Amino acid sequence: MLLTSLIKPILYFTLSMTPTQSINLDNKIIPESIKKEVIEALSFYPELYDTAIEFKFKDNIKKSTMQAQPRFASFFKAKENREYVILISRKIQIEGEEFTMSDIPSDVKIGWIGHELGHVMDYRERTNMGMLIFGLKYLFSPVHFKEVERAADTYAVAHGMGDYILKTKNFILENAHLSEKYKNRIRRLYISPEEVMELINKNKVEEEPEILEMND
Ligand SMILES: [Zn+2]
Repeated sequence: MLLTSLIKPILYFTLSMTPTQSINLDNKIIPESIKKEVIEALSFYPELYDTAIEFKFKDNIKKSTMQAQPRFASFFKAKENREYVILISRKIQIEGEEFTMSDIPSDVKIGWIGHELGHVMDYRERTNMGMLIFGLKYLFSPVHFKEVERAADTYAVAHGMGDYILKTKNFILENAHLSEKYKNRIRRLYISPEEVMELINKNKVEEEPEILEMND
């Protein structure tokens, strides 16, 4: 049998196996109710295999729905050993009505988690001193905040999560149940669905040469 006829199926098999094998659940803590979505989002980030992350529900997070942060106890470890916590708010900012994480469609949650994992990717590159300065700037500078949010979405799109990110943004911006105040904050500080589309298209153009190479 020709070697090349063997290689192709093996290659396809390996590629299709990558998502589940690229996830290390030994260093992840995931609540049962959101496990499916977290695993799907993690499958796009094989680089986070060795990174310890806890996903943790919280009753209310000030001004946001999810929040990625380094675990305080690991802060003085080398950046390779830094651990992270992704806080997930049980309630979503609303006007009057009760609206919780369980009311959100699965794909939207995956996009949301994908965005937070984008933050983790960004934090991983930073030194401890860098993280400290970063934290202060993030709190006090809206311009810096916007840059950081753009970086998280850029990581997510580059990892193939563009469609999920779009779904999450559209869900927020087109949702009649969410308060205008919350939506305006999202419009002001986060990149728009149109900008996400631009990132997706830019990524496609960059990926094309590779696809052409693989086809011949
Ligand atoms: Zn964010």
